[in-house]
Amino acid sequence: MPTYEYLCEECHKRFTVFLTYAEYDAAEVRCPACGSGQVRRRIGRIRISKSEESRMENLVNPSSLDGIEDDPKAMGRLMRQMQSELGEEVGPEFDEVVSRLEKGQDPEQIEREMPELADLGDDGDPGWDD
Ligand SMILES: [Zn+2]
Repeated sequence: MPTYEYLCEECHKRFTVFLTYAEYDAAEVRCPACGSGQVRRRIGRIRISKSEESRMENLVNPSSLDGIEDDPKAMGRLMRQMQSELGEEVGPEFDEVVSRLEKGQDPEQIEREMPELADLGDDGDPGWDD
């Protein structure tokens, strides 16, 4: 089941919800801390559930991940492959990031040029490594 990470704009608490794709369309997500509906979905980190993770392991050769941070084009290809394999609706930001990666842009440069992504790195984690 997909995991969605949200940020509450009222109390700035981060929380994670599990929703099926069908639920996500209809869901009214509220902050578990203050009950506010003023929440926004965090992007910038691709979170996948355990079952999807094992599908990913079947999909990609783990050795192909070695040094991928230094190879934006390879990272872009992998993200594109993950997207089609997982079938998740990922939104325009993901497409933008992937197409920039595929052009060989440095992920850090992409974050600088896409402040809405950098904005999410409030824990100091740029979201590319983990
Ligand atoms: Zn809240």
